[in-house]
Amino acid sequence: MIAAIRGTHDILPGEVEKWQLVEETARQLCARYGYLELRTPIIEHEELFAKGTGESTDIVQKEMYSFTDKGGERVTMRPEATPSMVRAFVEHNLEQTLPAAKLFAMGPMFRYERPQKGRYRQFHQLDVEVFGVNDPAIDAEVIDLAWMLIAALGIERAELVVNSVGCAQCRPAFQEALLKALGDDLPRLCEDCQRRARTNPLRIYDCKVEADQPIIDRLPHSIDYLCEPCATHFRDVRAHLDAFGIPWSLSHRLVRGLDYYTRTTFEILGQALGAQNALLGGGRYDGLVKDLGGPDRPGIGFAAGLERLVLALPASAAPAVPARAFVVAIGDDGRREALVLLRELRAAGLAAQMEFEAKGVRAQMKRADRLQARVALIVGGDELARGEVTLRTMANGDQRSAPRADIVEIVRGLLT
Ligand SMILES: [Zn+2]
Ligand SMILES: [Zn+2]
Repeated sequence: MIAAIRGTHDILPGEVEKWQLVEETARQLCARYGYLELRTPIIEHEELFAKGTGESTDIVQKEMYSFTDKGGERVTMRPEATPSMVRAFVEHNLEQTLPAAKLFAMGPMFRYERPQKGRYRQFHQLDVEVFGVNDPAIDAEVIDLAWMLIAALGIERAELVVNSVGCAQCRPAFQEALLKALGDDLPRLCEDCQRRARTNPLRIYDCKVEADQPIIDRLPHSIDYLCEPCATHFRDVRAHLDAFGIPWSLSHRLVRGLDYYTRTTFEILGQALGAQNALLGGGRYDGLVKDLGGPDRPGIGFAAGLERLVLALPASAAPAVPARAFVVAIGDDGRREALVLLRELRAAGLAAQMEFEAKGVRAQMKRADRLQARVALIVGGDELARGEVTLRTMANGDQRSAPRADIVEIVRGLLT
């Protein structure tokens, strides 16, 4: 037996319905908010992520599925969607062709991480992005869309945390203050933090190493170093959230694990794996479009982990089994007619099934039970000669005869 690759998983019938529920809810909300779907390839030039996601990130440093293809090209299976979305936005000049550059994508991402419960090497994300809008109202809209998604899925005890990491103007002063505050403690931090101090000191806040925490807790906060435009922007974002009635709290440590974030960052936390986890997260990335060779346009977005959302769904969110009919055949004549009736029901838009292997009525009825059919249609014998079919209500076992000519409409009435 050849098993699935470590870190990947099959989404089986029975579970996939929850995925469909999450995906369908996301699609409907994106449409309501005016976000259009963009599907980008799973493989891109390695350079796109090295530049876009950032050389200093854990993703680019150690987690990318990169390889040389048969043409000698270095390609990467996307570890996140944002650089691909930016590339497509620039490559197709979408700011000219679309009414608004508000986009979403859904699909698999790939990171070579240590597999653990709920964390996979092939995982799935909903990705939402807006290009070209500076106004804090768009930050609030994107956060609101994320919040609505969690609410629409019925996920309870969700918490929104926000922060601002400043811009190219004010960040250098903050980084300097950060390194100064670290001072003699820097050599006592973990190896990753040593590297972060050299490449992107903000990301020291991402450190999960226990021993580092007392030192990190003493570090200065980015919001105390914001320039006037960044401070105003962040104040306006929070004012919009207050006006929407969306509860938020400030998290100084919310710098996000990527290099490109500017100003607003946010996460929605929820109970997914028996502990509090980020269900989704995002922020503003005002320099990224330009860094990737496009025009100087701001951007903001978020990515939601579909695995986490599915895990966080309330038990009541299990989608209902669709009502269906089951056709039971008696004898060869009955079977021929039953197949025709089965097709008529389906052509009329009704869910209907039949058992092709078992011949006995008992075995066929058993199958109807297993499929939780609402109604069984028994076709054969004398009734068929009279132009009738037997109709059995599975819940209570009531049986009656019905004219063959009317049966599709009668079943429609019973199933809908
Ligand atoms: Zn600033
Ligand atoms: Zn550390």
